[in-house]
Order: sequence, then structure tokens, then C-alpha cells
Amino acid sequence: MNNDEFRQWSRRAADWGADYRSTLREQPVRPLVEPGDIFRSIGASPPEDAEPMDQIFADFEEKILPGMTHWQHPRFFAYFPANAAPVSVVAEYLVSAMAAQCMLWQTSPAATELETRTVDWMRQALGLPEGFSGVIQDSASSATLAAVLTMRERALDWQGSKQGLAGQARLRIYSSDQVHTSIDRAIWISGIGEDNLVRIPVGGRFRAMDTAALEAAIVADREAGMQPAGIIACVGGTSTGGTDDILGVAAVAQRHGLYLHVDAAWAGSAMICPEYRRFWAGVERADSIVFNPHKWLGAQFDCSMQFIRRPEDLVRTLAIKPEFLKTHGRDGIINYSEWSVPLGRRFRALKLWFLLRAHGLENLRAMIRNHVAWSERLAARLAREPDFEIVSEPMLSLFSFRHKAIADAEADEHNLRLVNAINDDGRIYLTQTRVDGQVAIRFQVGQFEATAADIDMAFTVIMEIARGVA
Ligand SMILES: *Cc1c(COP(=O)(O)O)cnc(C)c1O
Repeated sequence: MNNDEFRQWSRRAADWGADYRSTLREQPVRPLVEPGDIFRSIGASPPEDAEPMDQIFADFEEKILPGMTHWQHPRFFAYFPANAAPVSVVAEYLVSAMAAQCMLWQTSPAATELETRTVDWMRQALGLPEGFSGVIQDSASSATLAAVLTMRERALDWQGSKQGLAGQARLRIYSSDQVHTSIDRAIWISGIGEDNLVRIPVGGRFRAMDTAALEAAIVADREAGMQPAGIIACVGGTSTGGTDDILGVAAVAQRHGLYLHVDAAWAGSAMICPEYRRFWAGVERADSIVFNPHKWLGAQFDCSMQFIRRPEDLVRTLAIKPEFLKTHGRDGIINYSEWSVPLGRRFRALKLWFLLRAHGLENLRAMIRNHVAWSERLAARLAREPDFEIVSEPMLSLFSFRHKAIADAEADEHNLRLVNAINDDGRIYLTQTRVDGQVAIRFQVGQFEATAADIDMAFTVIMEIARGVA
């Protein structure tokens, strides 16, 4: 592709993107395809000769597009949102055109310095105190892995990476069962081992860890000769928005000298609104916090922010050079690849900078407040229907519900059938979870383009399909 063609096709792609966004509302949210449909439509062997772009683009529209789930659809109520505000898409065009590797300060000084600045903007926006540094990771999974590795190294006096874990004290990490599966994986990958992830019982409306049980587990493990290393708390768990009492957990962490990592990957975006910060009261005592601007806030994937109290510990854990002997961030040089597991890094700060400037915090707050209000209203409407029950009350914009089956024994199957039928209908998209072992249907609203009318339609669709009127 020569430069003229590059210009022409880039324009075509930009036009396509705008048309795509403007017609999403008329599309089914989830495609109606069978496994293997797309795979079979793609040639089995790679082309030996160049093909014309017209043909490639036509195939994209014909073969690929019909198999896409539309995450930017205003009636995407499944999982958590993966918002890509148009302005962040524009920034990504620029980033992809420059295609810089931003692993060291010198491999793109602007990328590094804008990252430091936008992380501090977000720190202020979330109401976190000065003293937190941060880094933009690719995903919350990576951020949590980096935190767990830091816990491990701190607890082993920085000898784990060098000597391996054989012959070391048996490390222990504590969390509830409401945390994301990325925590399990971080424990596996770090070599600490699933058997050493101690699940603390939960209670209360937000399924918070019982802090007395947490402390008792730590004390018992120490007495048994094991070595407690850290605690992972969650604010806004993926199933029902499970939220720990961060203040209480932080007090335990402090008393026992343990590292505290807070996973607020989804809910963190809401903390730009001061009234929701009660959900993570005490978070300023954490050693690290992860939240994903690529979920609710509108920064195109990938953009996961990790705030860190002592970056020197993270760098000491992950840097290839003994950079920890330097003062990080004070001499103006930060090499962010030393703050993360992968070496190569995309320029992720640009889209966040564009987003925050083009929208302003006040507009983003208004969007989030609307989502929370609409979700609460829908939960209240469903609660008034005699054949529906609310399984978990709204945590921010997430709640779960169940349609009552004729026989209790069939409730799980009935609700799984219902969620499938709703999704096959295409007007809305929902996902299911299990709450205390039983199937529940999750609902969250978080799309940039969602309106109150879209949530009203969700109610209509749920009623129609559940009552077989469709
Ligand atoms: C989405 C989510 C994650 C995983 O985020 P990735 O960025 O996809 O790794 C982890 N924890 C919570 C609470 C989440 O909602």
C-alpha cells in the first residue's frame, strides 16, 4: 500500500467507523451465527499473490461484520461496558499511525510524560491523595499480576525471582470469592499456587470479606509457620458488584504488615463522582489500586490504570536493571516498561488525554450518574412484577434478577433459557451469573450512547420474552 492508498483507505475506514456507530441502534447487539460459520467462510490457506484492497474491504463487510458482537451498541447490557468514546477512537488512529513502542522514556518521551500527567489527572479525578504514582497497563489482569509479584518479592525479601520458590516460606494471599478470575491467574503465574489463595467468607449486602475472619486466618497461618504476603480486596466484583470494606481490610493489612491491592477495574470509573467514593472509603491506605478507564469511562481498550504507593517496590520486582537504586520519577526519567510485565508498550495515554479534554469530568460524571439512576429504576420496576425477583440489589449500575419458574427445581434452566431467548431476539444483550449457586441474570448499563429509552426497551423486551409474548 503506497501513501496515497494509505490516505484513501484511512479515510474510507474513518467514514466506515462513523457510519457504523450511527447505525448501531438498528442492529442486533449479538450476531446470530453458529460456531464455525465465520471460520468456514475464510480461505483455508494464505494468499500467495497480492489481493486488491477493494476485495479485502468487501470481505470484511460481508464475512466479518455479521459475526461481530457490538460492544458499542447502546443496548449492550452484558458483562461490563468496553466503551470507546469516538474521541478516544480518533486518538487511537493517531497512535496506530505512529506505531511507537513506548517502553523507555527515550523511545518516546512524549508518551512517557503524558502518561505520568494523565495518571496524575486521574488520581485527582478519583479523589486519591498525593503520594500515589501510577502506570497505564494493558489490562487489569496485568496490573494485578504485577501487584501479586510485588507482594511475593516483598514477603521474600526480594529473593523469589532470584532463587525461585522452592525452599522458601509458604506464602499466603487473602481475598473473598467475589474477586475476578484474574486474581486466581495471578496467583498461579506468580508461583504462589492456588492452594495458598485463602478465601475469606463474605457477608452483608455487598458480600464484603469478614474482616475478623480475615485477621484470624492471617494469625492462624503465621502460627502454622506460613508467611502471609498480601490481601486483594475488590470494589465492584464482576458477578454482583461485591465490595469489600476497604477501611476494615486496610486496618488488618496495616496491623500485619501486608500488601493491600484493590481491584476496582469496573467500579473505579464511578469514583470521579464524589458521592460514590463511600464504596471504597479507606482506599488511600492501599498499596496499589487498579481501575480500567477502558471499561466505563470511555477510553478505547486497552487502558488499565494502576495506582501505586511505592513504585520503587514494583520496579525492584520487575526492572531488568537494578533501577531501584535510582529515585523514580524524581529525575524526570521514568521507563514504564519497568513497571509492567510486558516490555513493549503501546501509547495508551493519548486517548485518555483526548477523552478527558473533549468531555470534561463534569460530562463524564453526568453520564455515570444517569447510568446508576436508570439501573436503579429498572431494578425497581422489575421488583414490582410478581413473577420477577431481584437477586442482588444495584451496586452502582449493576444488579441481577431472576424470573420465577413454575417449579423451583427448574429455576436455573428456566433462567438460562430466558437469557438465551432474550439474546437471540437481538434488541438487548444480557449475561448470566451464579449467586449462591443459583443462576441469576445480570444487568448493567454503561454504554456511552445509552438513553433512558434504551433501558425502557430493556424492560419491554424482558417482559415480552419472559412471558412468551414475543
Ligand atoms: C474486567 C475486570 C477485570 C479484568 O480486567 P482486564 O482489563 O480485562 O484484565 C478484573 N477485575 C474486575 C473487577 C473486572 O471487572
